[in-house]
Amino acid sequence: MRREPARTVGTSPLPAADAVSPVERRRRAYFHRRLGAWFRRAGRHDLPWQRDRRGYAVWVSEIMLQQTTVETVRGYYGGFLRRFPTVRALAEANLDEVLALWSGLGYYRRAHHLHRAARLVVARHGGRLPRREEDLGALPGIGPSTAGAIASLAYDRPAVVLDTNVRRVLTRYWRDMHRHLGGGERALWALARWLLPEEGGRAHTQALMDLGALVCRPRDPGCPRCPLVADCPGPSGEGAPRRPKADSERRRRRMTLLLFRDRQGRVLLERRSSRGIWAGLWCLPEAEGSASVSVGSAGPGLLARRLHRLSHLDLEICLLAAHPLPPPGRSGRGRRWASARERARLGLPPIVRAMLESLPVT
Ligand code: SF4
Repeated sequence: MRREPARTVGTSPLPAADAVSPVERRRRAYFHRRLGAWFRRAGRHDLPWQRDRRGYAVWVSEIMLQQTTVETVRGYYGGFLRRFPTVRALAEANLDEVLALWSGLGYYRRAHHLHRAARLVVARHGGRLPRREEDLGALPGIGPSTAGAIASLAYDRPAVVLDTNVRRVLTRYWRDMHRHLGGGERALWALARWLLPEEGGRAHTQALMDLGALVCRPRDPGCPRCPLVADCPGPSGEGAPRRPKADSERRRRRMTLLLFRDRQGRVLLERRSSRGIWAGLWCLPEAEGSASVSVGSAGPGLLARRLHRLSHLDLEICLLAAHPLPPPGRSGRGRRWASARERARLGLPPIVRAMLESLPVT
């Protein structure tokens, strides 16, 4: 562990990791041996994003996989890469086209960052994604862990990755060592760096990710079939399974959207703020204050109502027919009239698109 150079997460220096006992060094070797054998036998080796190891393709997949399941990303990754096969193609694209392809993946700030970062890569690096973690981390939307994932998965370099799956494995199996280093975030980075192999960064990263995703799962860890079970203290403390939130504990929010139509049947769309739900997407204008309707009402003007379940809250969406034309939008927001054909090329939240398509004539 003395070979660990000082590094920073943000601006915080990591603790020196010394005084590692021979027992822990042997445990580290055991960890690598068992994890590597399990990965070769049972890891994931045929995910769509494992067929293209270019830095750009890995970067796109890592951003898509943030807070999104593998199964969901499968439906988006291929289409995105076909339309934007290179950094330059993404940089030259219109943001609306990027958001339209991202529509349904959620967390839309990721798409904004990806697009902005692609333009910076063209401007600063001639269209080639940098290889050094420091340069990657200077781009919008790429934090230290994502930079490490790109460096290891694309370039096979030993680099620290601490996504939620890896964190869980490390805080469970290496619980005592984590505490020995002082606990918390900086100690976890020091631990992860100590565990890096001299070479084979890609396999090490992918093995940790896969073990966390397939075996050492958050709520129901499969310890009996885990390659590390012989000397793992088990899921307790920081890595203990968390109780899922009951429906009654989930946040609820009501949103009222307004449908304005012009004589050609086009509907009025408003660009949403770059923060919050559906960041930067085109949407129907949202009513504020008195225009909202109560739950259970079916009053005049109510066209549709849907319950939309997001990862962090339940959204009840009411769609109201509205007139006359609304006052100008809040500052900084664009507005446009859009026919059904034009809407097909714009990034709209899928639930709003579905509500519009369910109406008799829009
Ligand atoms: S033995 Fe259980 S808690 Fe320990 S790493 Fe394996 S699955 Fe996770």
